[in-house]
Amino acid sequence: MNEYDSNRISDLMSSIDFTKVSEIESADCFIFNTCHIREKATQKVYSDIGKIKKILRGKNKKPIFVLAGCVAQAESSIVFEKSDFVDIVVGPQAYHTLPNLIKNYLEGQKKTFNTDLNVSEKFDSLEYYKNLSSKVSSFITIQEGCDKFCKFCVVPYTRGPEFSRHPDQIINEIKTLVNNGAREITLLGQNVSGYLHEKINLASLIKKISPIQDLKRIRFTTSHPNDFDEDLINIFRDEEKLMPQLHLPVQSGSNKILNLMNRKHTREFYLELIYKFKKVRKNMEFSSDFIVGYPGETEEDFKDTLDLVETVKFSNSFSFIYSQRPGTPAVDYQQIPKEIAKTRLEILQNKLFNLQMKFNESKINTKTKVLLENITKKGNQLFGRNEYMQAVFIEGTKSFPGTEAEVFINSCTKNNLFGTMINN
Ligand code: SF4
Repeated sequence: MNEYDSNRISDLMSSIDFTKVSEIESADCFIFNTCHIREKATQKVYSDIGKIKKILRGKNKKPIFVLAGCVAQAESSIVFEKSDFVDIVVGPQAYHTLPNLIKNYLEGQKKTFNTDLNVSEKFDSLEYYKNLSSKVSSFITIQEGCDKFCKFCVVPYTRGPEFSRHPDQIINEIKTLVNNGAREITLLGQNVSGYLHEKINLASLIKKISPIQDLKRIRFTTSHPNDFDEDLINIFRDEEKLMPQLHLPVQSGSNKILNLMNRKHTREFYLELIYKFKKVRKNMEFSSDFIVGYPGETEEDFKDTLDLVETVKFSNSFSFIYSQRPGTPAVDYQQIPKEIAKTRLEILQNKLFNLQMKFNESKINTKTKVLLENITKKGNQLFGRNEYMQAVFIEGTKSFPGTEAEVFINSCTKNNLFGTMINN
């Protein structure tokens, strides 16, 4: 989502005649768009600000410095106490005000912040600024915030309550992106499966988006298992443009831990859901998120997670050791020793990596449909992704960005497939 937000911030900045530059020394304005999900996000931001300060030491003119995103939201005006270098602080639901904040700053040189959670106003304002992204595979935010309050997660506090954009706004923006060259659209939301605008849910939104001419692929992320009703399961059967790959975070395979996390679903419910998807679309594959070493996790709980992984056979996944987020309920729970968590993470990741490798190997000597994106930096290969988001490198130097090619896969590594184009 930060990639989408950064693109939109760039669109806003061009409206007040700022353009992107590639050298630090030549910038009149810096905007750090920050994420609060990772551990030590806040410390990292201040350390990165320090690095910029050091590079610019000795220059006559100080650039405007904007801190945006979820760290800005969490820290708000405290930022000014911690760093005299920052001039403007703007939260993820208020960045549409940035052109005005910058103009005011230029007039009065007064430090200012806006961390309002007015997401509806943000998207209404953004309608006046064309999305200039021209990537073959583009993102669009359709939903923000979360009401689920998992006990480890900071999102409900930094992005606010659930909000779903108006479908017309979304469709117009997708049409602009497709006109600019996008062929694959990923619908984004912290809890995208909970999308609901009046009576339009995610399944009906996908049905509305699908007929857009020249749009070839649709994906969405990130979802919560509890939001999948029959409509949202069957849409994978009914809409060919919706890719057969779903990122469906489970976090743990133990019912006890799921309960402690306030996930509000069980492992049985999750497995049943996977079965339902496979029933409507046999070739579906899944990726997931895992938290290891959550407070209260025993060896038995961890084994339940390994068992679930083995049952679903995820095609790829993200896994992390639980880390405390200030302001969330789990921060005060009795933590389990770091060494134990580290060992468990290693075991889990080995398992996940082996499954990923097996999945990649299963593609060798088969054909796969690749949406071509670009020529690699070295200039001797084409790059694209297949239906399962696997990165595919293809022999050849002539790129046709935005076209789908049949590719014969010759070899693979854990992260990539390598092949030869079949059709021209
Ligand atoms: S559903 Fe996702 S975004 Fe919402 S609180 Fe849980 S982990 Fe965070």
